[in-house]
Amino acid sequence: MNGYPDLLVLGAGPCGLATAHHAQASGLQVQLVDAGSTAGGRMRTTHEILDGQSLIVEHGPVGWAGPTPETDAACQALAVPTIESDAADSHRYLVNQRQLVPLPQSISGLTSSNLLSMRERLRAATEKWADFAPDGTEETVEEFFTRRFGTSFSRKIAGPIVRGLFAGDPKVTSMRALFPQVADAELHYGSVTKAARQHPEIFGGKVTSCPGGVSQLAEALATPLAEHTIYNCSVDAAIKEQGWWFLFRDGKQVAVGRQLAVCLPIHQLGYVLREYLPRGNDSIARFQGQDLATVAVLHRADRIPDPCAGFGVLAPIDHPSPVLGVQFAHSIFPQHVPDGWVLLRGMLGGDADPLVLQRSDAELVDLLSADLETWVGAPRQPERSWVYRIPGGVPRYGLGHAKEAQALFDDLEKVSGLYLGSDALFGIGIEAALARGSSIARAAKEELLTYSTEQAVPGSL
Ligand SMILES: Cc1cc2nc3c(=O)[nH]c(=O)nc-3n(C[C@H](O)[C@H](O)[C@H](O)COP(=O)(O)OP(=O)(O)OC[C@H]3O[C@@H](n4cnc5c(N)ncnc54)[C@H](O)[C@@H]3O)c2cc1C
Repeated sequence: MNGYPDLLVLGAGPCGLATAHHAQASGLQVQLVDAGSTAGGRMRTTHEILDGQSLIVEHGPVGWAGPTPETDAACQALAVPTIESDAADSHRYLVNQRQLVPLPQSISGLTSSNLLSMRERLRAATEKWADFAPDGTEETVEEFFTRRFGTSFSRKIAGPIVRGLFAGDPKVTSMRALFPQVADAELHYGSVTKAARQHPEIFGGKVTSCPGGVSQLAEALATPLAEHTIYNCSVDAAIKEQGWWFLFRDGKQVAVGRQLAVCLPIHQLGYVLREYLPRGNDSIARFQGQDLATVAVLHRADRIPDPCAGFGVLAPIDHPSPVLGVQFAHSIFPQHVPDGWVLLRGMLGGDADPLVLQRSDAELVDLLSADLETWVGAPRQPERSWVYRIPGGVPRYGLGHAKEAQALFDDLEKVSGLYLGSDALFGIGIEAALARGSSIARAAKEELLTYSTEQAVPGSL
């Protein structure tokens, strides 16, 4: 690299990788810094060999769900092969009275599901005529679905989806923060059912990954940046002085550059930039994410009576264990698991067990196995198991989140040459992270064109 970087990028998860990738492609000199020993952030994959074939175990994301223009474009530009899941189109299941009941994949299917009694279905069918919330009211997910579809729909269907997919408690999770598109659709179409008919993509689509798992895309993004990446460097402060950004770890300067993109989970983002927040650390206290563990267990297919076909199963809202949901990994992407084997991947923790990270691996495997024994008849002892701990794994979208996140963003946006990427601010998921990265790179390039070339060398702090 000639001289100092035009853009420092803090965090090599999908957002930071996309930022650095697009910035480098537009001619900027970049420097990427990450606390971990590899790139990818929460996009991580374990590769193993089983029966002479490849076995893929994901730690966090299983893939990206459509529509995904940014991810498609990145895969195309980097010649990364992709695979599409059919299982996403087929059933998810809900546990109802210890039995797996198919969860239809459309709003009309859901409102007529036999998870609901006839009376409850009739109530759900009146959604088109439901009242709107009074102006200015921020509703929880539970309040929103109760108002539109009735209490039973909210509790039996919406609740497990929020718990199983986002580790959230529907009683306290903000509808607008978690499902902004659905909340907007209500306002635009006057009814969620009508919106779903016109735009089924709002409610999810196919899931895509790579033959080598999600980390294949992360590696493809990271490889051309390798010379400009510092790993194993947990930055604890970012300070701007005399037109330059300085990154520090334990009081020592680790990198310096003209502009800075901070692409971290919101809590770390706020901590590193606390100098620029009017209330310092207090500004970020409410943004601590929810701790999660993912646990994968491997079984021989002929030892499980249920075929475990489809996408997976969601635990009921009042489930007494920390298990939130289970993905049928071998069915979502059969290419990832050798024939004759079943790989079941559970998500545990969130509000259902705030102390999940303190449990031992054996305890976590046992908690998942106990549920799988009841739900699909899996033996209590798996052939193999993997446990991954993800501190602050998903943002906590409580009431007021959007407003406070916006206030934090507004405070930081006043600092010139600073760009932010975080799934608590710009949407959860790989696609949203890549989209944010590409818009940061564009903004950084534009802003750099306005800089004077006089101050080409930073002083030191
Ligand atoms: C269990 C689970 C399942 C998920 N499933 C899906 C899914 O199926 N599909 C989907 O699209 N999304 C899914 N997500 C969400 C998705 O993983 C995130 O939205 C996405 O990874 C956010 O990207 P990011 O780059 O903003 O942050 P991250 O991926 O968290 O990357 C942040 C990076 O910053 C680094 N870092 C943190 N602090 C510092 C510091 N102080 N100094 C230097 N580096 C630091 C970390 O090491 C990390 O590499 C899932 C998440 C979890 C936890």
